[in-house]
Amino acid sequence: MFINGKWVNAESGRTFPSVNPASGDIIAQVPAGDANDAAKAIEAAADAFPHWSAQTAYQRSQFLYQAHALMMEKLDHLAAVMTEEQGKPLQAARNEVKYGADFLLWYAEEAKRIYGQTIPSSRADQRFMVLRQPVGVVGAITPWNYPISMITRKVAPALAAGCTIVLKPAEATPLCAKAVFEIFEAAGMPAGVVNLVTAQVPAPIGDAFLKDPRIRKLTFTGSTDVGKMLAREAAVQMKRVSLELGGHAPFIVCRDADPVHAAKGLALVKFLNTGQACISPNRIYVHADIIDSFIGELTQRVSAMKAGSGFDKSVRIGPLVSDAALEKVDRQVQDAIAKGARLIAGGRRLTENGLDRGFFYAPTILSGVTPDMTIYREETFGPVAPIISYNDADDLLAMANDTRYGLASYVYTSDLKTAFTLFEGLHFGIVGINDINPTSAAAPFGGMKESGLGREGGIEGIEEYLETKLGGFSI
Ligand code: NAD
Repeated sequence: MFINGKWVNAESGRTFPSVNPASGDIIAQVPAGDANDAAKAIEAAADAFPHWSAQTAYQRSQFLYQAHALMMEKLDHLAAVMTEEQGKPLQAARNEVKYGADFLLWYAEEAKRIYGQTIPSSRADQRFMVLRQPVGVVGAITPWNYPISMITRKVAPALAAGCTIVLKPAEATPLCAKAVFEIFEAAGMPAGVVNLVTAQVPAPIGDAFLKDPRIRKLTFTGSTDVGKMLAREAAVQMKRVSLELGGHAPFIVCRDADPVHAAKGLALVKFLNTGQACISPNRIYVHADIIDSFIGELTQRVSAMKAGSGFDKSVRIGPLVSDAALEKVDRQVQDAIAKGARLIAGGRRLTENGLDRGFFYAPTILSGVTPDMTIYREETFGPVAPIISYNDADDLLAMANDTRYGLASYVYTSDLKTAFTLFEGLHFGIVGINDINPTSAAAPFGGMKESGLGREGGIEGIEEYLETKLGGFSI
């Protein structure tokens, strides 16, 4: 763990294993932090806050520029750590490291653009001035599916704003977090500005963040249930929260779309990270007139996807994170089949050629999916493409919006009017129109409804870490 500028073990001396999900092998033992370690880290962050927040934006941004340069230098190393610990193919891991590094660069620049305001008063002898100031010490909790970029997406804007931070990474990917914090250390961040507490049991660290009044802001990426619990508890001390939670993305292929192009897009975005992405399509609506060519192209692409170790260059499908994840995916698939869905590809755990040592599920296509099936409502977080045929475009928006989630959505159309109607009518924070990758450090990422609160990335991302202070001056 990295607390107050030093690498330390847990006070209890306890450790837990980090496991390679492709082979089941233990990679390393990691400190199992608890509430005591969290308290020390919060103390360090609170002590560092006055000095860090008093640095000029130009000084703070130098650290972020430096961290960005080091991260790009260490690209291969970071990607290899991620592939071993998280399982995604090496090329996808490299892409994630670059995406993660982008946040450091973007917020190194945004740090210098935290503008205030002057406001005209109705009184001649009065002046109004609005200042933006850092909220204080931040508690951050990150997931395992994007184990490096989810860290920089929080740390970079927090530091740029002048906050100090304590981060608890997911228990499945502590080594990825350690590798990122080694970069922060090498970038020369002053002691206590960034702190890392690894833990096998997350709740005591979450509790420490919630109960310690010095933590003024909680930022969380993970499941909707945990996010709601944190938001409820954070209300006790009225801490600021931002939450990036689950999703259930509709992927709409209109009658006027090119079905082959759309199937190619779906094959890329659906099976990215083995479907373990909050923006992964979970309901694929395809117009009945073009569904056969769509399914034909998709099936061809899916049957060519090889599963295995992410270090094998020909592999597209890495392992799922755990046995529980495998079971959840299979339960959804079997439920859909039992209720009348047609299994076109996959639909089973992969065990041949040594894959039984890891958590592999065959890339799966289901057609004839209906609203009574679990997969129609519950996030899958796995490599399953559930296809729904539709005829009536008038029902499309109501169908697509019929979910408690509101993170990402996708539309394929060649008609400008349809593109605008759906862009404006979809209740989702992100809409990709003929675009399967509508994400960037420069753009606001986040969800509506039960997919979360606040935005990460873009000019919006730094707002989450700033207070607004009004000054009234009588002169
Ligand atoms: P999770 O909620 O179980 O875990 C996420 C993080 O929360 C981990 O660090 C975990 O240790 C921690 N955590 C769990 N219980 C906690 C508690 N009681 N107190 C404090 N911390 C706790 O989620 P997961 O299964 O690891 O991740 C998958 C979920 O994350 C999916 O629902 C996915 O959609 C979502 N996700 C969202 C985004 C986004 O940007 N919206 C990005 C990635 C993942």
